[in-house]
Amino acid sequence: MSSKKRKVLDDLEQPGRKSQAAPASQQSLNVAASDDAHFRHLYDRELDFKQLAEKDVDFAAVLQENGHLDFTEPKAVMQLTKTLLSLDFNLKLELPDDRLCPPVPNRHNYILWLKELVDTSSYEPPGRPACGLDIGTGASCIYPLLGTTQRPSWRFVATDIDEKSLQYARENVALNHLEDRITVLGRQPEDTLIPLRGRESEKVIHIDFTMMNPPFYESEDDMLSSAQSKVRPPHSACTGAPVEMVCEGGEIAHISRMLEESLVLKEEVQWYTSMLGKASSVETLVDKLKANGIDNYAITEFIQGNKTRRWALGWSFGPMRPAEHVARVKTSGWKKVSPPVLAIEVLSLHPGRSIDHAITRINEVMRSLELLSWNWDTDARKGTGRTRENVWSRASRRKKMRDQSTSFSVLSSAAPGSDPVQCRLGFDVAVEMGVPTTTVTVHWREGHDAVMFESLAGFLQGKLKDLG
Ligand code: SAH
Repeated sequence: MSSKKRKVLDDLEQPGRKSQAAPASQQSLNVAASDDAHFRHLYDRELDFKQLAEKDVDFAAVLQENGHLDFTEPKAVMQLTKTLLSLDFNLKLELPDDRLCPPVPNRHNYILWLKELVDTSSYEPPGRPACGLDIGTGASCIYPLLGTTQRPSWRFVATDIDEKSLQYARENVALNHLEDRITVLGRQPEDTLIPLRGRESEKVIHIDFTMMNPPFYESEDDMLSSAQSKVRPPHSACTGAPVEMVCEGGEIAHISRMLEESLVLKEEVQWYTSMLGKASSVETLVDKLKANGIDNYAITEFIQGNKTRRWALGWSFGPMRPAEHVARVKTSGWKKVSPPVLAIEVLSLHPGRSIDHAITRINEVMRSLELLSWNWDTDARKGTGRTRENVWSRASRRKKMRDQSTSFSVLSSAAPGSDPVQCRLGFDVAVEMGVPTTTVTVHWREGHDAVMFESLAGFLQGKLKDLG
């Protein structure tokens, strides 16, 4: 048991002593919630090198006198990564000269997206415990380090096929005392990417999500031509060894392997995700998802200023859907590739119109339906409903009237997940306070039926129409 966990138990077990600590599970959730806002905005602005130099003498030593950082100088780039990890995450890092030196803001973006993907595709509060699999963790082991630092309830399995990277990854885990939360696992190129089947699968108990920063390029020529087409000079220290950057068939082949494995494992893993280096690959892979009947997926775009763009794709066989802003790219050109709409605004309240009135109406309407459950959260101004079928159509309501006369209907207010009847649609109705208008939005939370979700939103829109 970790000393931190022991401490919490000690606090709770001492009779007569007032405990300062919340129970471990609750404590981890609270930490996640308060820290998240801080982490989310860490790299919103361009990095201020002068400020970094003031805080870290090692960084000051590589900064040029004019305040510029020489990105073609491997030592300088590596120091930037070390400095950011130390100042922003309290993490230590040791890297060899001949392996990839990960740019922290880009790697951090992937973790930020994953946190929201995992959080929003669940009825549990943000920060639920989860185990991630980082496929190809590299010498840095950067994703598991960043993930466990930000989420006290997360664990990781980190794999690689490169002996030198594995050795450094293990060292970096030990350097940060994270051995009890990160397991580094060596793989062979012919092994499965997800170690839940085959060789050494007994070492991995459970995985909630996968992540991968695959070798993007099909060949060294492909890598060089891609670097040349960029406006910025290539980061020499971030180029990496061929094993890290190149694989047969490039990223499409690598992610397709993950897709093939996911078609066997299905809901054993909630989210399968990968980073992508080429926009065109996103389209190709989404076509593959659709061809395999996968409708629950998410796309995001990572942008750092005017620099390199990257994308991430995630898919799930489960019914829980992520939030609209997590799953759909806002910039133009992405509509065709994006998953179905996950949030529909059904009312825009003009200033001066009563919000309480709208809340009362929403609850009246929802309680009049034969839902599996409807729970209103007064503080969050949000209700969650679940239904086994369309119970708002005229035909369904006529049927209800008939059934009522024979007292056939049963209304359940069971908590999500506790009912034996299958839920076809889960949704939130949220009153979102804005300036100058407040809106009511229906969010799709659960299920695979986009038509049913849109139908519910249309129904509610009609019921609230006169309040706008
Ligand atoms: N995750 C790190 C490193 C990414 S480079 C980062 O983001 O900085 C890609 C990594 O995938 C390399 O370390 C490479 O050795 C590893 N890799 C390539 N094929 C693999 C496979 N089949 N299984 C596991 N790792 C693999």
